[in-house]
Amino acid sequence: MKIALEHLTKKFGDVYAVKDLNFHIGDGEFVALLGPSGCGKTTTMLMIAGIYKPTEGFIKFDGKVVNDLEPRDRNTGMVFQSYALYPHMTVYENITFPLKLKKVPKSEMEEECKKIAKLLQIEHLLNRKPGELSGGQQQRVALGRALIKKPKVLLFDEPLSNLDARLRISMRRFIKEIQREFGITSIYVTHDQEEAMTMADRIAVMKDGVLQTFTTPNKLHDEPENIFVANFIGNPPMNIIDAELFEDKGELYLCLSEGFSVEVPEIRKPRVKKRKVKFGIRPYDVKIVKDGKIPAKVVFVEFFGKELLVLCKIGDKEIQVLVPAELNVKEGDGLFLEFKESGFHFFDPDTGVSLL
Ligand code: ATP
Repeated sequence: MKIALEHLTKKFGDVYAVKDLNFHIGDGEFVALLGPSGCGKTTTMLMIAGIYKPTEGFIKFDGKVVNDLEPRDRNTGMVFQSYALYPHMTVYENITFPLKLKKVPKSEMEEECKKIAKLLQIEHLLNRKPGELSGGQQQRVALGRALIKKPKVLLFDEPLSNLDARLRISMRRFIKEIQREFGITSIYVTHDQEEAMTMADRIAVMKDGVLQTFTTPNKLHDEPENIFVANFIGNPPMNIIDAELFEDKGELYLCLSEGFSVEVPEIRKPRVKKRKVKFGIRPYDVKIVKDGKIPAKVVFVEFFGKELLVLCKIGDKEIQVLVPAELNVKEGDGLFLEFKESGFHFFDPDTGVSLL
């Protein structure tokens, strides 16, 4: 099923929870709605589910406006963070509940449940109650209950937030595999960039109810459209430094700080000429080298997983650099930095929009 959101807006009183949202989701596509708390992800999903009515705009399923269609008539399955299983029912009763409501014959119900349980690897748990299951198992049951209706759309609201880190990673792959197998158009709400980046075909990043960008994980990381997206994606976050561009003998240079300049690589020349810019570079796109054009001083060093996050000063500007722990960098060291050519980013200092 294809989904289109057109000028979709939701106001609660005077507050815009979602403002003029426009994007199209392809049939069988897995789309993540990503953004900080309160950006309008859940409100968007609840409008697609039919639980909230839009204040303005349209939701279309396969080209047909569904704004006035009741949730039960939309053919969507939902999986929540809280699992929302019925505690007094067995796993079997939980999974088959949607079919029972539809008065599907018992034998058919049993057969469908068997198929789904096999796929979700929970056949041995059918007689248990939710309280006797682990978090991951409960989430599989919730997924089973959503799938048994053979929905055209699957809606996930932070389904993995209550699971521990290892289980989250294995469930990510599991959900993705099931989604591929069924080819169901899926919308996945999360504030976890890693989850969105690893699972989604495309990601819609939202801020304050407004869509910031809608693109593939790779593009989101490599070509962020504005400073908010650049900062939100990538860990540790991108360095954003006030800088100036100037030309000398036909070449374009970036002045990071008085007396500290570097040539802008041909492949990253901004298409809009501005003197003052915000220069962006990811900590892992900066290398420490023995000799180079950008001298820097180490201010602070901390462990970041298996690597070192080194805070350096270039003149009066600070920059974070991620380097292998073996480098044995210490506070007070003087060294040189080198920027990866494809890592240069420039943003308009007034609007935050990318100049590339
Ligand atoms: P979170 O990750 O914290 O769940 P979210 O991105 O899903 O956040 P929403 O729950 O969609 O954000 O909320 C968007 C905005 O709308 C917030 O400012 C929120 O306070 C407001 N809001 C959401 N639901 C309601 C409601 N029922 N009544 C009034 N305001 C609401």
